[in-house]
Amino acid sequence: MLQAGGTPRAGERQVRATVVGAGVVGLSVAHDLAISGAAVTVVADRSAHESVSGVAGGLWFPYRVTTEPGAGDVLLRSRARFEQLAATDGVPVAVREGTVVERTADPDRSWTAAAIRYREARPDEVPAGAVSGVRAALPVADTPHYLRWLAERAAVLGVLVEQAEVHDVDVAARATSADVVVVAAGARSGALLADPDPGTPVGGQVVRLANPGLTDWLLDEDDPAGLTYVIPRGEDVVCGGTAVVDPADTAVDPRVQEGILRRVTAAVPALAGQEVLGAAHGLRPARSTLRLGPVPGFAVPVVACYGHGGAGLTLSWGCAEAVVAIAGDLLDQRAAPTPSDSLTK
Ligand SMILES: Cc1cc2nc3c(=O)[nH]c(=O)nc-3n(C[C@H](O)[C@H](O)[C@H](O)COP(=O)(O)OP(=O)(O)OC[C@H]3O[C@@H](n4cnc5c(N)ncnc54)[C@H](O)[C@@H]3O)c2cc1C
Repeated sequence: MLQAGGTPRAGERQVRATVVGAGVVGLSVAHDLAISGAAVTVVADRSAHESVSGVAGGLWFPYRVTTEPGAGDVLLRSRARFEQLAATDGVPVAVREGTVVERTADPDRSWTAAAIRYREARPDEVPAGAVSGVRAALPVADTPHYLRWLAERAAVLGVLVEQAEVHDVDVAARATSADVVVVAAGARSGALLADPDPGTPVGGQVVRLANPGLTDWLLDEDDPAGLTYVIPRGEDVVCGGTAVVDPADTAVDPRVQEGILRRVTAAVPALAGQEVLGAAHGLRPARSTLRLGPVPGFAVPVVACYGHGGAGLTLSWGCAEAVVAIAGDLLDQRAAPTPSDSLTK
């Protein structure tokens, strides 16, 4: 019913899929559902730019996300899609070298299994106080341009976007005549699915500086002065950051910004004195684990796709591919005759 390559088989009605959420996850899911042949409607009350997706630095890295065992494939598939996009003209994604700084004796290097390439960093490539580090080539998306590109690609594939708030999944399914609904509504997904583990947001503040010509990124999660990362994109460099569980305030704090600027200029002196282009504070949709799977109890098949924490962009394409497979299975199960059906025929 949903298949790679797209068009429904002769005599088959086109599947109608509704995606709740127009962030990087919802748009990627909508894109792949459309590629697999579905007529897709996205229902969202905010655009990707107005959501936390618009704040994302754009580095492919599984930061503050936990995936279920077996979901490692999602990370790898996502990286492969971004690598393909980086090799495609006109797509604002690039493969960039950078350093993950390690300050503990037993750092988690599981992510390297999905890196494009990596090697041990030399001592002169990590800051004083670091125990070790990894030099790696990873995809980096220029987030604002990338989200625009993604929305345009989805539109070209026929994806319709309706601006509305969803209060009830069954009502949204009826209103859009959906055969299947995907809930990719970020931090607000849990409320739509009565999830007993809806997750807790983790706030993050960033400042964007003019790019003095940097190409390498840097991630130093355990910098004793505070979380430090530098992500050069095209014209800007995203500098962070913070990670505050369930913050009381989501406004940009100028004192926090001063601290970020101090840390990033200590790590990358070329950033000193660069023009501040903007600042933002977003809520990472964190959850105990990524939720990616069917949710029973609704009038039509429903697939959950949320809890991406600090890695929604990172996991977006792998999740989109997984959602297409799950939705296809659910629809096939519905279409298959039950044993009692065949007995009565
Ligand atoms: C400072 C910072 C830096 C980050 N950097 C990176 C990075 O470098 N790499 C990376 O991979 N990730 C990064 N992230 C994390 C990333 O931003 C998120 O994981 C990702 O954006 C989540 O995307 P989403 O589509 O699930 O949610 P969102 O972007 O929040 O989108 C949710 C969508 O659902 C809609 N919606 C929600 N509820 C409803 C409803 N009831 N009815 C209708 N519509 C609804 C919203 O309107 C919106 O369209 C960063 C986050 C922060 C805060």
